[in-house]
Amino acid sequence: MEAMLQGVGVSHGVAVGEVRHMGTAALEPPARRIRPEDAPREQARARQAVEAVAADLNARGQLAGGEAQAVLEAQALMALDPELMADVERRVTVGSTAERAVYDALSAYRALLAGAGEYLAGRVADLDDVRNRIVARLLGVPMPGVPDSDEPFVLVARDLAPADTALLDTSLVLGFVTQEGGPTSHSAILARALGVPAVVALPGAVELAEGTVVAVDGSTGEVFVSPGQERRAALTAAAAERKAAAAAAAGPGATSDGHRVPLLANIGGPADVAAAVAAGAEGVGLFRTEFLFLDDAATAPSQERQAEVYRRVLEAFPEGRVVVRVLDAGADKPLGFLTPADEPNPALGVRGLRALLDHPEVLATQLRALAQASSGLPVHLEVMAPMVADRQDAKAFADACREAGLGAKFGAMVEIPSAALRARSILREVEFLSLGTNDLAQYTFAADRQVGAVSRYQDPWQPALLDLVALAAEAAGAEGRGCGVCGEAAADPLLACVLTGLGVTSLSMGAASIPYVRAALARHSLAQCRRAAEAARATDGADAARRAARRVLSGE
Ligand code: PEP
Ligand code: MG
Repeated sequence: MEAMLQGVGVSHGVAVGEVRHMGTAALEPPARRIRPEDAPREQARARQAVEAVAADLNARGQLAGGEAQAVLEAQALMALDPELMADVERRVTVGSTAERAVYDALSAYRALLAGAGEYLAGRVADLDDVRNRIVARLLGVPMPGVPDSDEPFVLVARDLAPADTALLDTSLVLGFVTQEGGPTSHSAILARALGVPAVVALPGAVELAEGTVVAVDGSTGEVFVSPGQERRAALTAAAAERKAAAAAAAGPGATSDGHRVPLLANIGGPADVAAAVAAGAEGVGLFRTEFLFLDDAATAPSQERQAEVYRRVLEAFPEGRVVVRVLDAGADKPLGFLTPADEPNPALGVRGLRALLDHPEVLATQLRALAQASSGLPVHLEVMAPMVADRQDAKAFADACREAGLGAKFGAMVEIPSAALRARSILREVEFLSLGTNDLAQYTFAADRQVGAVSRYQDPWQPALLDLVALAAEAAGAEGRGCGVCGEAAADPLLACVLTGLGVTSLSMGAASIPYVRAALARHSLAQCRRAAEAARATDGADAARRAARRVLSGE
């Protein structure tokens, strides 16, 4: 029967295969006593074994190169630590064999490391590996390590040593799962570099029977034991979709029957532009300008300084559309020059447009900087205001745009339920809408998006949220205006289809998600997207909505 174990996903991708456990030879040497006259010989054996293992680790490092090399060389240095050698020799002098002395000396060091805080404790697996290698050499048994197999498999271990991870044959090891370790363990770092799906900190991993089939989702941290056909198919399809999507040529976003849905990128500044261009973004749907000023939030940035950064972004999309959001200060993104101190509930306080209307000179400076930056460029610049609650807000923003002489379209973000409910009246003042589903969920469900305990309400599949999206999109459609989504909802390929079915006209997301969303849209017609949207809205919860949409879109 299928079971699910939850760990921490550290390297994206899905792997389905049989479990093979990491080879763990019986490496605790017997506590045999030696005669005093044999001590020099045993000490020499210990030294030779240590030196040979260090040389082997260095050689593996050279073969692997890059980040792996640094890790393996650090392990070699651990083995050659003079204090460790002194401890081994002392133990031999009082009667231990070379292998027992190495085992005990390194175990004592291990205990010290394990209790010495998170960073050093993370190096315990590295040290265990050094110990096992030296002891195996002294005992003349095979090195513990990656099992031999002709068939690809999922490697399972208590923890993986960097020496094994670095040299994993990725045509054989489909993915790996460890019981211990965390996102900062070397194994996790190396898995990401290798591109192998991986889950760490999985309770019960070492008890998984050899040969059991598991499905590892390195994105969610889920490991399905004995997955059913349906699960396997879904996970494999998802993985194949991601792979195909990543490989697919860039192109404009559209459904299978040619209904255009421009795919835009969310960026926080010029540093994000390259990834957006590489993913084939048709422009920028959300430029979070406040991100640029969070580290120096005491004084308002000058027009010149702003114009310089904005221009770097605008130049990257010569004929494209770039939607710049004016400063969204407040709540989790306080800017000293805009955000009032000591608000009892900043998410419900003077945030976003409210703060800008309290400081009209800051808004005017930003709009003038945008006018300056876009002057002479063929880019389609649009500006939008965060946290618009009603028509009065929208009018105030529109007036400020006109006064600044900005030749750009101006729009309103729909992040507050009141704006979705009265979208039509807001559209009397502005030219487009953009749904910020992150905040829209926060305010619809009265659930702070920063509080983990209420995180279930942030699920963008909630039918109540879909209803609000539909209201805004229908209002925009009736007025002949655009209504995009720039919250995280747009990055979910399945939900992107549903949003399209609800009437959303563009989707903006982190660059990495664009290929996946493009692929999902291209597989479904607009009529299918509409049916999926209807089915999702007819349910009473996020999970049911997700399932209903999936059923429609997979043609079940
Ligand atoms: C949103 O709220 O969905 C949004 C896009 O804005 P931010 O996440 O920056 O608040
Ligand atoms: Mg927001």
